[in-house]
Amino acid sequence: MMDWPKHGHTIRTGDFSGMARFVFITGGVVSSLGKGLASAALGALLQARGFSVRLRKLDPYLNVDPGTMSPFEHGEVFVTDDGAETDLDLGHYERFTGVPATKTDSISSGRIYTTVLEKERRGDYLGKTIQVIPHVTNEIKDFISIGEDDVDFMLCEIGGTVGDIEGLPFFEAIRQFGQDKKRGQCIFMQLTLLPYMKAAGELKTKPTQHSVKELRSIGIAPDILVCRSERPIPAKEREKLALFCNVRPDSVIAAQDLSSIYRAPLAYHREGLDQAVLDAFGISPAPKPDLRVWDDVADRINNPEGHVKVAIVGKYTQLEDAYKSIAEALTHGGMANRVKVSIEWVDAEIFEREDVAPHLEGFHAILVPGGFGERGTEGKIKAVEFARTQKIPYLGICLGMQMAVIEAARNLADLGDAGSEEFDHESGKRRFTPVVYHLKEWVQGNHKVERKLGDNKGGTMRLGAYDAVLAAGSRVAEIYGTTAIEERHRHRYEVDIKYREALEAKGLIFSGMSPDGRLPEIVEIKDHPWFIGVQFHPELKSKPFAPHPLFRDFVRAAKDNSRLV
Ligand code: GLN
Repeated sequence: MMDWPKHGHTIRTGDFSGMARFVFITGGVVSSLGKGLASAALGALLQARGFSVRLRKLDPYLNVDPGTMSPFEHGEVFVTDDGAETDLDLGHYERFTGVPATKTDSISSGRIYTTVLEKERRGDYLGKTIQVIPHVTNEIKDFISIGEDDVDFMLCEIGGTVGDIEGLPFFEAIRQFGQDKKRGQCIFMQLTLLPYMKAAGELKTKPTQHSVKELRSIGIAPDILVCRSERPIPAKEREKLALFCNVRPDSVIAAQDLSSIYRAPLAYHREGLDQAVLDAFGISPAPKPDLRVWDDVADRINNPEGHVKVAIVGKYTQLEDAYKSIAEALTHGGMANRVKVSIEWVDAEIFEREDVAPHLEGFHAILVPGGFGERGTEGKIKAVEFARTQKIPYLGICLGMQMAVIEAARNLADLGDAGSEEFDHESGKRRFTPVVYHLKEWVQGNHKVERKLGDNKGGTMRLGAYDAVLAAGSRVAEIYGTTAIEERHRHRYEVDIKYREALEAKGLIFSGMSPDGRLPEIVEIKDHPWFIGVQFHPELKSKPFAPHPLFRDFVRAAKDNSRLV
């Protein structure tokens, strides 16, 4: 695949040398309009014109971080290298720009208020009355400007919809921010919906007009309108929107539904989004975009040469966003192999009542993703057994690796009651031999981290990027093309190396370990077409233009298998 161009340099133009330009992205009318995707695609387009970018998400909800939010409700938790548990939109940002997100790229009202209240308790405000304006808004503005000197463009997406009560301090903060900065250093882009009324045969502009009115009532006048619609926007509606919402006609950007999110950069470019943004900043002449990498991505999506079917056996299968990055990483693996990957979500609990074979036969590969809690785990273990004995390519991620180890311990190493301490902790009973145990201390960089079981939820995990050392000659070393890797983690429990010898004697090889040799990071079975379990989350680092090696090779194995099935 094509190499993603490096965007380390910055292009300083006009009056803002040494300063970022800010694009604030807000949403109106309804939620789920694809604000995150629009922001990510805009980031990619600005990069394609040679600019450096950083994307940030400001979330109005009161949770302090998304780490403790249910994936059923909120979708997956995206983990950054520096160990922040963030919103899944940061995953989009990374996938489209290749810029690794950090702790300072995601904030919630809950975190802002926590900081303000901590400062108040410490006496930092010297007894003053603490108010939303200026204390909360100042905290938000400080957050927005972190690292502003390092990039050409800072894109800040505000979660939720204009008019939400929780969002008000954020809207007020970005309004002030626009005033604090030099004229022309900040622009506002509002995403809205143009519903199509069948009876009238028209796209309706009124909800958009109202959402812009709402935005203007809090002092923000959008420079650009991005309008989601099922159909192209006729010139008449475009002019009407421009007139009533007080934007230029060429700043009304149509965002039609797309069959793949990876078409978004090209589609937005065709609609003139990046040009409109550069125009709004007065950047002229605009550097020409180099979109070859996205052309290549689109070509791979448009012209698959085969089709593979992958079963994801998990718990949160009702909400596909719960495994967003895995689905995307599989798509990337498909692009690398020029095949279309169809994913089917299989609820693990079915296998506690029904035979596995009829449900999993016909899939070219099986994946068991990460997860928490005991529910569904016996079913997952059955899925692992099926993949192992039927020689179907298997990828186990985090809990999926733990399930693979437990399956091998039970069915190969005669440890019939092998299990995870996680399940005993949950039930309060001692039922299992803890092949997977609760991790209480580990090494991070050059210091030791210690945790107790009773620590605050959200604070007890091994989170973020850790190194691992791969065994020379192992399958994973071959796939990665190196023996030193760094991957992102999010887990409390760990495979016990006490069982290594017994399991390796039965063919489950511990082929990746933490640098101190204490924590198993990867297991694999040699005598199998493809069977790998990883304690980390490779899906978080995969990109369309740089598919993760494990997903690339997993899909390759599925493709080989599809020729046999
Ligand atoms: N629940 C398991 C643990 O905490 C696995 C976590 C995960 O899959 N992310 O170790």
